[in-house]
Amino acid sequence: MAEQSVENVVILGSGPAGLTAALYAARANLSPLVISGSQPGGQLTITTEVENYPGFPHGLMGPEMMELFRKQAERFGTRFESGDVTRVEAGARPFAIVLADGRTIRAATLIVATGASAKLIGLPSEKLLMGYGVSACATCDGFFFKGKNVLVVGGGDTAMEEANFLTKFAAKVTLVHRRDTLRASKIMQERALKNPKIEFAWNSAVVEVHGDPGKGGMTGVTLEDTTNGAKRELAADGLFVAIGHEPNTQLFRGVLDMDERGYVLTQGKTTRTNVPGLFACGDAQDPTYRQAVTAAGSGCMAAIDAERFLESSGH
Ligand code: NAP
Repeated sequence: MAEQSVENVVILGSGPAGLTAALYAARANLSPLVISGSQPGGQLTITTEVENYPGFPHGLMGPEMMELFRKQAERFGTRFESGDVTRVEAGARPFAIVLADGRTIRAATLIVATGASAKLIGLPSEKLLMGYGVSACATCDGFFFKGKNVLVVGGGDTAMEEANFLTKFAAKVTLVHRRDTLRASKIMQERALKNPKIEFAWNSAVVEVHGDPGKGGMTGVTLEDTTNGAKRELAADGLFVAIGHEPNTQLFRGVLDMDERGYVLTQGKTTRTNVPGLFACGDAQDPTYRQAVTAAGSGCMAAIDAERFLESSGH
């Protein structure tokens, strides 16, 4: 049987971190292979305008930005595969990356750039009505709420961004936040507070979503006052959950050292993990900054770390 070839660098994930790692690894002549998962391009593909990526003074749409990242990585010889990775065997090198279609890819180094996904409140009724009024992505679903009343849950930048975006379609947006102060950056807060279509439900938590998926979907929610427990009903056609993210690192549980939330731990100011030859970058290892530009920066670091590792191990 022919011996299976070993990739120099395999990168899991195709957001800003993965594609920047690919660009740098490609320019180091390592011919990297990117495996893009179920959301090619990552979270920026479900965002609207990116206004804070340096070098784009007029802003740029998220999906367009990711297309540019991809083209730049391709220009220097990055290859792409799409597929869901079901298992990574990292006990010995080369690592084995097993895909859902049964293929196994072997890699001398592996860069984890699997990013993070939106968190949900965790209510059974929220799950039941997901896609029938409940959503975690205003850019994906906002269009369906023309002239309707919608709620956005959360007090961070994502919630402000989603609320502002939804005012393009909705008649009214109510921002439901569990405290009476916002976590969002000043500029994003001000934009939302000034928007005449946005109302605020302070000190409020969604404890139930009402509606029937088979009969027109969501009709409203029960809100609980977080200061005194009082409940009230609020009619609404849509609920956008914007309460933060969790890292997509389930594949590496028991393999990589992680913090209690599942963020991969890296060593010092590097992208090295506890497994030699395995590196982590972007939101999968960053609970703090989580910006496109910081993800891209750490992707660059991971490629350099992988290149040095290959060199020092005589690959
Ligand atoms: P975040 O900053 O962690 O904020 C999450 C918000 O959801 C908080 O207000 C939190 O409330 C609330 N929350 C968390 N769990 C909840 C629950 N179970 N029920 C109800 N509310 C809950 O997350 P994010 O807004 O997604 O932002 C993440 C990072 O991305 C930040 O660094 C942000 O600056 C960045 N970002 C930047 C932009 C931009 O600059 N254009 C856009 C989007 C995101 P508490 O405040 O009470 O904790």
